[in-house]
Amino acid sequence: MQVPLLDLKAQYATIRAEVEAAIAEVMESQHFILGPKVEQCEKAIAQYSNRSYAVGVSSGTDALLACLMAENIGPGDEVITTPYTFFATVGAIARVGATPVFVDIDPVTYNLDVTKIASKVTSKTRAIIPVHLYGQMADMDAVMAISEKHGLVVIEDAAQAIGAESKGRRAGSIGHYGCFSFFPSKNLGAAGDGGMIVTNDAQRAEKLKCLRAHGSKPKYYHKVVGGNFRLDALQAAVVFAKLPHLDEWTAGRQRNARKYDQLFQEMGLSGNSTGASSVALPTVVANRHIFNQYVIRVSRRDHLQDALQQRGIGTEVYYPVPMHLQECFGYLGHKVGAFPESESAAKETVALPIYPELSEAQLRHVVESIRDFLSSSPSTESNSSKPASELVGKPTWR
Ligand SMILES: *Cc1c(COP(=O)(O)O)cnc(C)c1O
Repeated sequence: MQVPLLDLKAQYATIRAEVEAAIAEVMESQHFILGPKVEQCEKAIAQYSNRSYAVGVSSGTDALLACLMAENIGPGDEVITTPYTFFATVGAIARVGATPVFVDIDPVTYNLDVTKIASKVTSKTRAIIPVHLYGQMADMDAVMAISEKHGLVVIEDAAQAIGAESKGRRAGSIGHYGCFSFFPSKNLGAAGDGGMIVTNDAQRAEKLKCLRAHGSKPKYYHKVVGGNFRLDALQAAVVFAKLPHLDEWTAGRQRNARKYDQLFQEMGLSGNSTGASSVALPTVVANRHIFNQYVIRVSRRDHLQDALQQRGIGTEVYYPVPMHLQECFGYLGHKVGAFPESESAAKETVALPIYPELSEAQLRHVVESIRDFLSSSPSTESNSSKPASELVGKPTWR
């Protein structure tokens, strides 16, 4: 039995007619950049995330970048974020010339450990970028309290969390800005790159619209330097056509997550620690986790991945090298051990297939394969005891 990490074809088969019609409409209009399709999509996403304004952009990455540019954040400024995220979060900070300041994660949710933010605030701090990792929101009450106390801008990186909720509030609806990605593997994926920024602030929305078109307003008059961060009409049309299905897809992911939890428990594999024969399951603390990823923690992660691959099961590590240990951020001077929770998560976590169209038999195959691996492998072995030859091509910081 094959269980790919993600099967976009299975989903497309259920919505082909709607997506094809949406694409055909754009082709007939020959209106490809911004325009009515993009506006329609912006309205729908603003509404879906309980915000007044939405600005379509070229990617989740450019969404983050444009927000930092809109706040004139640059050299000499510090932006607080997590080292355990997709590169774009930190890349955007570096690209505007600001300094990323890391705060370690909570080992249970993998989101920012909010108790550690306050001690990192300095007179240079301008913003905080909390990331709602894997589809579960970070503790935004704590983030907003710090933001209010110190006058900091909050940019929610909600690229993995569209529709997630905490205390009844949607991802992207709490900070000054919320950034979404429509990268195809996200829960609401386009047919290429795309992204969106939501905000309640009319002036910020206007500034973002100006920045996404090279800072031009009116046309060919530039008060500021922006970029080409525009959303394509084709991408907007695909996203708009898929949006009405998002809640049922989210329900499917949540159903699969519950099923995994149940199967791991039935087979006696779930534990809170990463004991040699148990698995730490995702812990849901927010009230709507949308499970962009279902991430477990195991002590012999790399061996488990190999074993699952041999059984036709796709997995992925999000992310194998935390940002403070990336070569390009070497100038920040962080050493191994600087953010221990992020480093352990990078060594011990693995994402299992969770997409909504998975069958119960597939879920069972995944959990049974993990059980077989855990019961057959020597329990003393750990990632760090791998022979050196197996580490070739792997990050050297391990
Ligand atoms: C996907 C992702 C992004 C970037 O989105 P793109 O659309 O791929 O540019 C940023 N942050 C996080 C946490 C992501 O998962």
